[in-house]
Amino acid sequence: MSPSISDEITRIKTPRATWRIGMRKIYFDHSATTPVHSDVAEEMFRYVTGIFGNPSSIHSFGREARKAVETARNKVAEGIGARTEEVVFTSGGTESDHMAIRGAVYANRKRGNHIITSAVEHHAVLDTCKALEKEGFELTVLPVDGYGMVSPQDAANAIKDNTILITVMHANNEVGTIQPISEIGGIAREKGVLFHTDAVQSMGKIPVNISDLKVDLLSVSGHKIYAPKGVGALYIRRGIRWRPFNFGGGQERKRRPGTENVPGIAALGKAVELAARELGEEKARLTFLREKLIKGILEKIDHVKLAGHPTMRLPNHVNLVFEFIEGESMLLSLDMQGVAASSGSACTSGSLNPSHVLLAMGIPHEIAHGSLRLTLGRSNTEEDVDEFINMMPPIVERLRTMSPLC
Ligand code: PLP
Repeated sequence: MSPSISDEITRIKTPRATWRIGMRKIYFDHSATTPVHSDVAEEMFRYVTGIFGNPSSIHSFGREARKAVETARNKVAEGIGARTEEVVFTSGGTESDHMAIRGAVYANRKRGNHIITSAVEHHAVLDTCKALEKEGFELTVLPVDGYGMVSPQDAANAIKDNTILITVMHANNEVGTIQPISEIGGIAREKGVLFHTDAVQSMGKIPVNISDLKVDLLSVSGHKIYAPKGVGALYIRRGIRWRPFNFGGGQERKRRPGTENVPGIAALGKAVELAARELGEEKARLTFLREKLIKGILEKIDHVKLAGHPTMRLPNHVNLVFEFIEGESMLLSLDMQGVAASSGSACTSGSLNPSHVLLAMGIPHEIAHGSLRLTLGRSNTEEDVDEFINMMPPIVERLRTMSPLC
């Protein structure tokens, strides 16, 4: 018999208990995706079964669904310090990035054709920029330093008369480095250039406020903040030159046509609300666990380095580069012991190419292969960190003895 919705909600409400049946499992891959928060799931289910109307319908079913969408829009807007009408719902971070970049450059093509981005962007940004280069736009890719940080001075120097957009991410998904977004935003504004930031990884972990960051466009994704996959949001500053490039419906004030994903949108609103409420406490808790994890591994294992900035990094983010080992083999050994981690971004693991982010930071090819990304979240405890610190030395020792890289 298939489980009822209330069984399902009860199961979601006790994820740790469920995960711990059989082998004790530790989930250290929150930058890839997060479990849906029980309160978020509850909010979402209301719109999966009960309130199912199309928000464009004028009858009561439609009006209820519309109310859910607009309530969520208010919550997301409040979460980032925007006006309600500046928030557009999308299918996730990738679509938000595409919409931000393409919408900005197509609308400003008469003013210029130069785009500036950084070498460590997510592929959703990098590949969009490269596709635009093929369409005739000019692209400058800013380098980063050894910590994966973009220099605001480099951004300033790259601006030309024909520059129409700068897109630099708020925090990096692979190494956790937080970029100097408000400085770059200030420079862009002074020069009259639009500025987009991908805040997919920073949202819910550090303050994300469009005024402080001085951005015109900002991308958010649901599944990185305990909402489901397949929903996201794009902030578009009122009055900027931006135009839609998908057509077919008047939804989202004609900026993103298509019937709204009401359950996903309601979930995203709830997740942003919860993240804002818990940010301070969770940030301090995760920073403590992160530092304990880094210190424990660096003390116990030789030839390991922390990748990314030591302090300007996301509170939940650890990326350790182990010499003489393949990241993939560490992942497999950890998986056998119930630990879920990653060795690059979730989207690129499975490929044998080392991460473009680590290479851009100047980490040699053969060493970049030994990267292990551990991203903490709500379910993790000090016990998880202690267990991991004790588990790693024998794994590393065994893999190094077998490694042709030694
Ligand atoms: N941008 C960054 C920085 C990411 O880490 C990701 C996903 O890993 C995305 C964009 C894509 O988001 P989504 O999976 O919601 O499309």
